[in-house]
Amino acid sequence: MKFTILTLFKDMYDGFLNTSIIAKAIKKGIVEVKLVNIRDYPLDAYGHVDDTPYGGGAGMLMSVKPIYEALKANYDPNAHILLTSPKANPFTQEKAVELAKKEHIIIICGHYEGVDARVEMLADEKISIGDYVLTGGELPSMVVMDSIIRLLDNAISKDSLEDESYTDGLLEYPQYTRPYDFMSHKVPDILLSGHHEKIRRYRLKMSLLETFIYRKDLLKNRKFTKEEKAIIKEIVDEFERS
Ligand code: SAM
Repeated sequence: MKFTILTLFKDMYDGFLNTSIIAKAIKKGIVEVKLVNIRDYPLDAYGHVDDTPYGGGAGMLMSVKPIYEALKANYDPNAHILLTSPKANPFTQEKAVELAKKEHIIIICGHYEGVDARVEMLADEKISIGDYVLTGGELPSMVVMDSIIRLLDNAISKDSLEDESYTDGLLEYPQYTRPYDFMSHKVPDILLSGHHEKIRRYRLKMSLLETFIYRKDLLKNRKFTKEEKAIIKEIVDEFERS
C-alpha cells in the first residue's frame, strides 16, 4: 500500500515514520510513504502557498492552486484522496478497515486557518479525527495512517487485531500483565485459571461492561447474541444483589 502526504511540514513525520511498527512496516515493504512539500508548488515567484481570505477574517488560508499542482505532479488514477478537516464525520475503526483496502491514499494536510473551500472538490472525501480543532492536518494524517498500517497483512500479528476495541463493536476487556499484585490490586484469579472457555466468557462480560460504562452509543443498534443477553442478565442480577 502507498500513502502520499501533501504537507507544508514534512519534518513533523520524522519520529512517526522512523519508530516502532510503522518503521518496521516501511522496512518490510508493506507500506510506502511519500512526503510531498506543497511549497514546491508555490503560487508565485515569492514562494507563497497561502493568502488572506476573501471577504476578510483572521489568519491565512492555504490556496487551492499549489495543492492542485502537487496533486497533479503525483497523479494516480487509482489513488483515493482524503482531505483532513474538522468539518467531517469523525474517523472510525470501520473507516480504517475500509481504507486499508485501498491501493494508494493521498492525504491533503491543511494548516493555518485551513484551506480554500475549492480544495474539497479535489478530494474523494474529508476526514476528521474528532470534534476539536488542531493547528494542521499533519497529526490527523498520522492518526489515519497509523490506524490503517497496523491493519495491513504482516504489519502486526493477526491475533493482536482480533479482540481489539471496536473490532466487534465493543470496547476491549481490561488486560493485565506482571506483577500479579500491585499495591494490593490483584489480577482477577480467573485469568490465571488456565480455563480458556471461562476466560473467554469473562472477557466478553468485561467488554460488555466497559462498553456500557464508556460508550453506550455503541450498544444502541447492536444485535446481542444469546450469550451476550445471558451475560447482561447476570450483570444486572449481580448489580441488584450488591
Ligand atoms: N478554520 C477551520 C475551521 O474552523 O473549521 C480550522 C482549520 S485548522 C486550524 C487547520 C487545518 O488543520 C485544517 O484545514 C485541517 O487540515 C486540520 N485539522 C484541524 N482539526 C482537524 C480535525 N479534527 N481533523 C482533521 N483535520 C483537522
